[in-house]
Amino acid sequence: MQVYFLGTSGALPTPNKNPACIMIRRGSDTLLFDCGEGAQQQMMRAKTGFTVDAVFITHWHADHYLGLPGLVQTMSFMGRKEPLYVYGPRWVSEFVRSVISISRKNLGFEMIPVELSHGSVVPFSGYTVRAFSTDHGMPSLGYILCEDERPGRFDREKAISLGISPVPLFGRLQRGSPVEVEKDGRTVTILPSDVMGEPRPGRKVVYTGDTRPKSGEWMDWARDCDLLIHDATFDDSEQERAMEVCHSTAGDAGRIASEISAKTLALVHISSRYVHMASHIEDAGKYYEGNIFAPDDLTMTELPFRDE
Ligand SMILES: [Zn+2]
Ligand SMILES: [Zn+2]
Repeated sequence: MQVYFLGTSGALPTPNKNPACIMIRRGSDTLLFDCGEGAQQQMMRAKTGFTVDAVFITHWHADHYLGLPGLVQTMSFMGRKEPLYVYGPRWVSEFVRSVISISRKNLGFEMIPVELSHGSVVPFSGYTVRAFSTDHGMPSLGYILCEDERPGRFDREKAISLGISPVPLFGRLQRGSPVEVEKDGRTVTILPSDVMGEPRPGRKVVYTGDTRPKSGEWMDWARDCDLLIHDATFDDSEQERAMEVCHSTAGDAGRIASEISAKTLALVHISSRYVHMASHIEDAGKYYEGNIFAPDDLTMTELPFRDE
């Protein structure tokens, strides 16, 4: 699973940073979370291609969606036929309708809006994306991509010692079916649990979008995530300003990361007033002991399984 930070700027882009856009690739699926202005060129620079399976928008501030009208034009030029699902909070239907109407041509594929609310779960093959309410002064959502549990580790040595023949019985056990073997003239049933370890958790990525720090049940859904991508518009010297304009400080992001036991914290949406990220990293580190980074645009993070 790869996470591409295509756009990491705050509300205003800078010469080196584009507005919000995060791409997650998992297996053959590509999902976009927010699609700020310039997303297409970032995709070219990152060499990801334009094949996007679904788009999730956190809220309707222009720095989070303005890249989508251009991207769908390109998809249309390239002959896309598959429908494009656009998920988002309230007003997603109005947004999609506007994109279609300003396009002034038949895109050649359907754009399908899907309104989500706190707790909505969108199923994909092998994982889900769950929405949670955030606190940004308007309808807004964060998203949790959560892989299904993986089967436990197969104990090959033990299976052989029990007299199980690798072909075809190993596969049958790994798929969850019991098998029978002949031992000392008797038929013995071997259960998958005899040779398989406990199921192992899949990977989990959390993206808050723009938000004040927010407690609530979403933290249980997000617990133990491999990567938390959190609003860190300000450093801690601007705590009051952050609350006023519905954003978080780096310290807020650190506190949340610590409370949900995130493995890694990525600080994004950092205001263009900051030239260096050192104060952000330091402020988050006061509350959180895990890995912290403030990704530059085009950073790609590969997420391995925790037990690998
Ligand atoms: Zn924003
Ligand atoms: Zn915003």
